[in-house]
Amino acid sequence: MAATPVTPVIVAIDGPSGTGKSSTSKAVAERAGLGYLDTGAQYRAMTWWMLSNGIDVQDPAAVAAAAAKPVIASGTDPGAPTITVDGTDVSVPIRGQAVTSAVSAVSAVPEVRALITELQRTIAAEAPGGIVVEGRDIGTTVLPGADVKVFLTASPEVRAARRSAELTGQEAAGLAATREALARRDAADSGRKASPLAKAEDAVEVDTSDLTLPQVIECVVTLIEDHTRRAR
Ligand code: C5P
Repeated sequence: MAATPVTPVIVAIDGPSGTGKSSTSKAVAERAGLGYLDTGAQYRAMTWWMLSNGIDVQDPAAVAAAAAKPVIASGTDPGAPTITVDGTDVSVPIRGQAVTSAVSAVSAVPEVRALITELQRTIAAEAPGGIVVEGRDIGTTVLPGADVKVFLTASPEVRAARRSAELTGQEAAGLAATREALARRDAADSGRKASPLAKAEDAVEVDTSDLTLPQVIECVVTLIEDHTRRAR
């Protein structure tokens, strides 16, 4: 008897930072046996390359002219995701303050978004059993036909507290400063012209403020199971 073909499942998880997107997306991908793509890491990698090569990140024309130069590659194993630029592992430097402060300016440049969006679509199309893709514009722009769309939110207080807990040593700032930095990045990400941070009309919104991580994971896994059952 022929095996039943397994249709790949595409899951889009969007939302601002500090909502538990990455932890949720990785865990959901592992539970559901799917690949995992962190699209924020790709924009961070592009930003790291711009900074490393002396490009003025506040000059959109300069960023646009250089955008096609770096080769960005993402490994999609949720247990050990990777990100490289021209073959160099940049997983550590892309989390530093310099990149975090500059990434919204770089990601607002349409030429950058066009290149990275194409890369994301290729990775999603090639994921054998399906993939969980986390970002800001996945459900609206990158993969509008995704099978399951989730938009995670949380109160500004909760998001700042989570982000503070992630930062260590010199990077750790006071709660108020962290909250301000998050608000600034969200305003830039939501206000830009090219595919801003937005909830897709057909996305399920989950407010994670009063939920534990296991509860959020359970909620998304249930949405995937519901989709799989309906698709049968
Ligand atoms: O998720 P993370 O905080 O790593 O994302 C870093 C930045 O990358 C965001 O602040 C945003 O400017 C950009 N980004 C984006 N579109 C995505 C994912 C991230 O513009 N799909």
